[in-house]
Amino acid sequence: MITNKVKICGMKHPQNINSISLLNPDFIGVIFYPYSPRFIGISFPIEIFTTGKKVGVFVKNSIENILKKIQKYAIEFGQIHGDESIEFCEELYKNNVSIIKVIRVNEAFSVIQKYTNYSLYILFDTHCKEFGGSGRKFSWEKISEYAFDTKFLLSGGIGIKDVESIKNVFHTKFFGIDLNSKFEIEPGNKNRDELKRFYHKKKFMKFVDTKGFYGEFGGTFIPEMLWPNIKELENNYPKIIMEKKFQYTLQSLLKDFVGRPTPLFYCEELSKKYEAKIYLKREDLNHTGAHKINNTVGQALLAKKLGKKKIIAETGAGQHGVATATVCAILNMDCIVFMGDTDIQRQAINVDRMKMLGATIIPVKTGTLKDAVNEALRYWIDNPESYYLIGSVVGPHPYPHIVSFFQSIISEEIQQQLKEKEGCEYPDYLIASVGGGSNAAGAFYHFLDNLSVKLIAAEAAGLGLKTNKTASSTFHGSKGVLHGSLTLLMQDEYGQIIEPYSISAGLDYPGIGPMHSHLFYTNRAQFISITDDEAIQAGYELSFLQGIIPAIESAHSIAILPKLNLKNNEVVVLNLSGRGEKDMDSYINYMNLYHEHDR
Ligand SMILES: *Cc1c(COP(=O)(O)O)cnc(C)c1O
Repeated sequence: MITNKVKICGMKHPQNINSISLLNPDFIGVIFYPYSPRFIGISFPIEIFTTGKKVGVFVKNSIENILKKIQKYAIEFGQIHGDESIEFCEELYKNNVSIIKVIRVNEAFSVIQKYTNYSLYILFDTHCKEFGGSGRKFSWEKISEYAFDTKFLLSGGIGIKDVESIKNVFHTKFFGIDLNSKFEIEPGNKNRDELKRFYHKKKFMKFVDTKGFYGEFGGTFIPEMLWPNIKELENNYPKIIMEKKFQYTLQSLLKDFVGRPTPLFYCEELSKKYEAKIYLKREDLNHTGAHKINNTVGQALLAKKLGKKKIIAETGAGQHGVATATVCAILNMDCIVFMGDTDIQRQAINVDRMKMLGATIIPVKTGTLKDAVNEALRYWIDNPESYYLIGSVVGPHPYPHIVSFFQSIISEEIQQQLKEKEGCEYPDYLIASVGGGSNAAGAFYHFLDNLSVKLIAAEAAGLGLKTNKTASSTFHGSKGVLHGSLTLLMQDEYGQIIEPYSISAGLDYPGIGPMHSHLFYTNRAQFISITDDEAIQAGYELSFLQGIIPAIESAHSIAILPKLNLKNNEVVVLNLSGRGEKDMDSYINYMNLYHEHDR
């Protein structure tokens, strides 16, 4: 569990406190103990506290003194760090001080009970004679013995590399962590870059556990022969992605090659029609025409850092193949794309694009996407020196996590852009289409734990939910293993995949990624099925109302709007995953058929 709070403790320079405040810590602590190297001093300007709850840390101070300081600096919590007696705490408590009582972990837990009556939080710290800031850790296993109701924080030598173990502290009273000496340039002077990296990593590891499960979905269900390849990736990806240099290269490619940030466009006509404030996140304006390149750029860079020179990928409609071939061209890597021969015929233009970009296409006999996946995996087992670049939030752990993280740039930008345009960082509704689920995962990512944002996923109903020509994986799906993870998929009584159908190639997938299965099961996201008919009409509507021809995948999201019962001034963000040029044949054929019916 890692929704825990962060307390940054032991600052003393006003400028430093100001700059650390910008990271929005939940608590900021200053130390009023003169023998500490982090002592704030006898007098300091009160306005240095800008954000976060203010905590004063006291060691062996008198009640009178503590109360004076609390009043003078408008301090909200008194952290009692010495050997203060229970009577001392009771007295402070009676004076309305919200107490954080420090317990050094060599103490018997039975003594804590008395303190819990008067403390708002307990803070567990390593035993040392300096009263905190020792930089040493204690064994967190001991915490499992804690059985009182008062919530607690963990302290003592916590640094960046502890993020993963923090995630694995499963205790219902675990409230937060206290950061201090591991983030210092010198005592009392905190390193903002280092703290920023900590926050970044904490966010990064947020929604998936270390075995790759989202609730009960996910995991690594693969043939034994793939294990070394997956392990290599799993052992290295967090470290590489967090590297400063990696982030720098990624950001500059996203900016100058992909064309990010993509605009957040206010749709006046749609807003009038549906009586709400409707924004489109314009992922269609990315290089190569869809969100897919956010992920291929990230993974290809990751592969390069792993020392790989050859990328393999599979593609159905060709969109992921093109995005992969594109980044391989610019990063000077070999690219092999597996594609079913049925798809090769249907998607001739994308095949030509991939070839022009220098990729090798390997046709898979009598097949479509799922056959191409099997062939690519077989090739990977035989060629472990290559990197398998998966195109959606599917596959064995850590792929869903990697892909959702690279796509999370979408919601990161939405937050900033909404703040500029609406003065609020989050919308009332967020809508995205779901094939495997990567554009939706990216659009939802930073809003997942904000329950006031209603997340809506548009699934492809094809010819209708009651027909057998559909790709509605939540409606028709059941639990099973698909492409290496436990998720919801469309399968028959023998566990064989039922061939999906949708007019939109990108949504024509027999399952959804594990994160989406979890969002569906826990009701965090609502899944709504949209038929071919509804999607095509919505595509035409967006075209003539707003001058934007959407990919048919994205048109499924537009078709959600009339189903939402929107109220005036509700803010809706719709992730426009791709542009419609690739779908012109489908749009036109569909309308011709429609008119023939009329006649
Ligand atoms: C591939 C694709 C999708 C579906 O894939 P997700 O992984 O679910 O995002 C949606 N829209 C467009 C434009 C696509 O190319």
